[in-house]
Amino acid sequence: MVKPFVPQLVYIEPRALEYSLGKELLHKFQNMGIEIRETTSHNQIRNLPGENHFQKYRTAKSTLVVGVRKTLKFDTSKPSAEYAIPFATGCMGHCHYCYLQTTMGSKPYIRTYVNVEEIFEAAEEYMSERAPEITRFEASCTSDIVGVDHLTHTLKRAIEYFGKTEHGRLRFVTKFSHVDHLLDAEHNGKTRFRFSINDDYIIKYFEPGTSRLNERIEAAVKIAEAGYPLGFIVAPIYLHEGWKEGYREMFEMLNDVLPTYARRDLTFEMIQHRFTKPAKRVIQQNYPMTKLELDESKRKWKWGKYGIGKYVYTDHEQEDIKDTLGSYIYRYFPEAKIEYFT
Ligand code: SF4
Repeated sequence: MVKPFVPQLVYIEPRALEYSLGKELLHKFQNMGIEIRETTSHNQIRNLPGENHFQKYRTAKSTLVVGVRKTLKFDTSKPSAEYAIPFATGCMGHCHYCYLQTTMGSKPYIRTYVNVEEIFEAAEEYMSERAPEITRFEASCTSDIVGVDHLTHTLKRAIEYFGKTEHGRLRFVTKFSHVDHLLDAEHNGKTRFRFSINDDYIIKYFEPGTSRLNERIEAAVKIAEAGYPLGFIVAPIYLHEGWKEGYREMFEMLNDVLPTYARRDLTFEMIQHRFTKPAKRVIQQNYPMTKLELDESKRKWKWGKYGIGKYVYTDHEQEDIKDTLGSYIYRYFPEAKIEYFT
């Protein structure tokens, strides 16, 4: 069982101490006996403990920076929401295919932002621009926010904030099962709580440092019991020997425990495994022993953002994935909505 995250090292930006959450976190980490360092800006963090890249990368992944979010301009977040809302960046998990490895480059530490009210004010403006249309905010574009929230409770505040809005909706996804503090949040049905799931083989070999499938499913049941609209992202869908069996077992496990009322408003998103050439290089550097199959010749090349092509499954394999997983969803969860396959 993966324990709730406890940082090995904490950096605090002085400006963060002008906010009550910044002060609160300083005291909390002092009381926990964690080493705390001051830094004028996270960009100044250079001397992380570790003798080589491999060790420094691992230290960074268990380092938390308490800072202030300066950019309050939100990125767009298609296809699952209109905007990405930035409460944190980085993640303590070690998924071999994690996109953060390339997007965060040499700064893989976790950052949490304490100017939460200012982030809400920015969200308010985005909502009023679109009103009376609903505006959806995705809170997990640059982190697994649930993984760190038992320490900060920022997400809990966000859930309650959006619970009170008329035109706002919040969504996020997690691979962690530490959700107990979120069960009594007043969400008013405005937050869709999603879990990222995969078959046991894939979680075992490629997702170290995250909650196991049975833990994620147990957490999903608690979330359903707390009345949240629920969703699952099956990602990345990865073809390995026995994948059809593996995914069938995963859906069966879910089917065995998910309460009936949670199935009426249930969503599935499906994302196939893909990689780019730069990502492949970073994965091989950070996880040199990985069993992840990254052979370009077995894949189809697809035009990607910024002109960097990505390697996806062949058309035939994609059809097979859609048919197989689609039929499982239809069999076990006929009322659920499949939002997209990409
Ligand atoms: S849990 Fe998500 S964000 Fe964290 S390492 Fe794994 S894929 Fe990346």
